[in-house]
Amino acid sequence: MTNSCALAIVGLGAMGSATVAALSRRGFDVIGFDRHRPPHDQGSSHGKTRIIRKAYWEHPLYVPLVQSAFDAWRELERRSSRELLVQTGALLIGREEGLLSRGTRQSAVTHDLEFEDLSRDDIVKRFPHFRPSEDTVGLFEREAGILFPEDCIEAFLNEAAEHGARLRFEEAITEWKAESGTVHLQTTAGSYSAERLLIAAGPWTRHLVPNLPLEVERQVMHWFEPKPESPPSTAEHLPVFLFEEADEQHWYGVPDFGDGVKVAIHHNGEPTTADALQREVAPAEVEAVRALLEQRMPMANGRALRACVCMYTNTPDGHFLIDSHPLHDQVLIASPCSGHGFKFASIFGEILADLLTTGETSFDLSPFRLSRDALFTHERTNEPEINNMERRT
Ligand SMILES: Cc1cc2nc3c(=O)[nH]c(=O)nc-3n(C[C@H](O)[C@H](O)[C@H](O)COP(=O)(O)OP(=O)(O)OC[C@H]3O[C@@H](n4cnc5c(N)ncnc54)[C@H](O)[C@@H]3O)c2cc1C
Repeated sequence: MTNSCALAIVGLGAMGSATVAALSRRGFDVIGFDRHRPPHDQGSSHGKTRIIRKAYWEHPLYVPLVQSAFDAWRELERRSSRELLVQTGALLIGREEGLLSRGTRQSAVTHDLEFEDLSRDDIVKRFPHFRPSEDTVGLFEREAGILFPEDCIEAFLNEAAEHGARLRFEEAITEWKAESGTVHLQTTAGSYSAERLLIAAGPWTRHLVPNLPLEVERQVMHWFEPKPESPPSTAEHLPVFLFEEADEQHWYGVPDFGDGVKVAIHHNGEPTTADALQREVAPAEVEAVRALLEQRMPMANGRALRACVCMYTNTPDGHFLIDSHPLHDQVLIASPCSGHGFKFASIFGEILADLLTTGETSFDLSPFRLSRDALFTHERTNEPEINNMERRT
C-alpha cells in the first residue's frame, strides 16, 4: 500500500526538523523520515554546542539571515520553554589584515553591528586564558553565543509531533522518483507518495542526488579539562573564540558547559563519505590540538576528556546549497553546511517551509543556487557536473 501526503521531508537533522516543525505549525500535512533516531550523533548536528555569531566574516550577505535566525531561536525557546541559546560573546583573534578580521569588520560595518576592537594586550588583560601571537588583534562581539544542537532538534521534533506531523524514525529513503506532479518514495519500511519533497539529508545528500557538487569532510571535536588554578572557563568568564593562524587556518573553542573546554580545528579534515567515516579519533589528532592549546591557551591543555567526529558537507565555494532539483521542480534540496549552517536552522526551517508551500521567500537565496558559477569554476574530480543537466524551466 502507498501512503500519501502533501509534503515529505527526508532527514530530520537541523534543517529537516526545523522545516517539519514550521510546516506542521502552519497546519500542513507533512511526513518526515530519518534513517536514525534524531537527535543522534551520526551526522552533522551533534557535539553539544554550536556557535552563533552575527558579524559574519564569511560574507555580509549572511547577516540579515542570522539576525532573523536569532529571533527565530528566541521564539523557539519561548514556544518550547527551553533554554537553547546562551549568550557568551565571541572573541575572534587574527592578524589585522587577515581574512577573519577584515571579513568580520566588513560585515559589522555594512550592517551596523556592535563590536569591540581589542589590541593583543587588551585581549590578555580581559581574557587571561589566551596567549595570542604578538602580531594579532581581537574583535569582540557581545551578542554572539552558543546553541545546544541536540536540544534544538528535540524541541523542533516535539513541536512537529504536537502539531500532527508524522515522524518516521529509523526509516531511510532508499529511492525516490518524481513524475507528473507526484514524488514516489521507497523507504526501508514501505512506499509513499507526496506532492513535494525536501531532501535535507546532510552528509548523505549525494546518496539521494548523486552528482551534486558536495564533498563530505571529517571533523573532530575535543573536550579538555582546564588545568588547576586556571582562570575560570565557564560561559560567564570565557567567550566562544576563533583563532586565525593564517588565511583559512582556523581553530575555535567553546567555554566549559560542564564537560570541559571544547576545541576543534575548522576544516583540514580527511575527505570521506557518510558511510565510510572513520569514527575513531587517533592519538595524533588529540596531540595536534594539544600543540595549539599549549601555544595559545595553555590553561585548557589539561586532561583530554572526550573526542568525537562529525561531518561537514562542503560546496566548493563554502556557501550553502539551497535550490530545487535541476530536473524536478517539486523536489527541493537543502544543504546549508560547509561547516557553518547550524545557527541558521531556525530561519531556514521557515524559509524552506515557504519555498515548499508557495515557491517563494522574502530572503535573497541567489548566492546558494545550484547554478551559481562559483560551484563549477573550482576544479573537481571524476564527477559528472550537475550543470550539464538541462534545467526543465
Ligand atoms: C564539528 C562541527 C562543528 C560545527 N560547528 C558549527 C557552529 O559552531 N555553528 C554553525 O552554525 N554550524 C556549525 N556546524 C555545521 C552545522 O552543524 C551543520 O551545517 C548542520 O548541522 C547541518 O544540518 P543538516 O540538517 O543539513 O544535516 P544533519 O543534521 O546531519 O541531518 C541530516 C539527517 O538526514 C538523515 N538522513 C540521511 N539520509 C537519509 C535517508 N536516506 N533517509 C532518511 N533520513 C536520512 C540523517 O540521519 C540525519 O539525521 C558544525 C558542524 C560540525 C560537524
